[in-house]
Amino acid sequence: MEKISPRKIYGVLGFPAKHSLSPLMHNAAFKTLKINARYKIFEAEPKELKNFICSLSENHIFGLNVTVPYKEKVIPFLDKISDEARLIGAVNTIKLRGDKLEGFNTDGEGFIRHLRKDLRFNPNAKSIALIGAGGAARAISVYLAKAKAKAITIYDIDKSKAQGLVKHLKANFNKIRFEVAHSVAGLKAKEAALLINATPRGMKEKDPEIIDNKFLPKNLLVYDLIYNPAQTKLLKLAKAQGCRTSNGLGMLLYQGAASFELWTGKRAPIGVMRKALNKHLALI
Ligand code: NAP
Repeated sequence: MEKISPRKIYGVLGFPAKHSLSPLMHNAAFKTLKINARYKIFEAEPKELKNFICSLSENHIFGLNVTVPYKEKVIPFLDKISDEARLIGAVNTIKLRGDKLEGFNTDGEGFIRHLRKDLRFNPNAKSIALIGAGGAARAISVYLAKAKAKAITIYDIDKSKAQGLVKHLKANFNKIRFEVAHSVAGLKAKEAALLINATPRGMKEKDPEIIDNKFLPKNLLVYDLIYNPAQTKLLKLAKAQGCRTSNGLGMLLYQGAASFELWTGKRAPIGVMRKALNKHLALI
């Protein structure tokens, strides 16, 4: 008699996490590749975190995405973490291998894959202006440095965060110029090829603009990590200046694809995953 293997469970863990779009793309991918698996949303309170992570195996959970506020907090409960996740200081993907838990970070990889594959932008030898020095900025800046950017200038409303990130990057990538900008003007966006917003500013309609249009030259690629709304004030402003623009949906897609590949060992069906995200976003 043919042995039927039990359905594997994957999911996203956060607090809150119910708004996550990840189940849409992963379940579409499992269906297309005929993988007997289901991707769910898990919300755990901080006091439940350790127990949740340590019981993955007994609950048949073979892989997790981790989101706010647990990307750093899960690290002590893992058996091993990748070099990239260690450098970023955060884990967004957990894989159960045998009875061991391995941690990875696919946020930066997702960003770079989107830049290269869809936007045809190669960060090599480019100057980059980055707004924000939080978790997402850490992941992105590590991958931009790995891709051999020429210079990365970072501005954060909290100057100590920008200083901390620049110090960390300098200690790990000695051939790249890293600078702290003390204001938006100090980002020197006119000399950059890519400007990135890695802050939540722009998610709310009433949010003020993050940068003045006088800092946005035509040849700049402006990338906002926010994908809802699809067109932030920053992207509208940049488009009006004649800049190329992108929101963060592609980063979400490709970080999900990278997690899927780590879990399944199969190439992620990008087209199917993209379609699932777009279909949902067209409805809201
Ligand atoms: P975070 O850890 O809170 O970091 C954001 C940083 O930006 C904080 O240091 C914050 O300072 C700073 N900041 C806020 N407003 C600013 C302003 N006007 N100018 C300069 N700096 C400012 O957040 P995160 O996790 O890195 O996420 C950042 C954004 O990226 C969020 O919108 C998130 O949804 C998005 N994201 C998208 C993807 C994707 O796949 N597309 C993935 C990850 C994150 P304070 O803490 O002092 O406010």
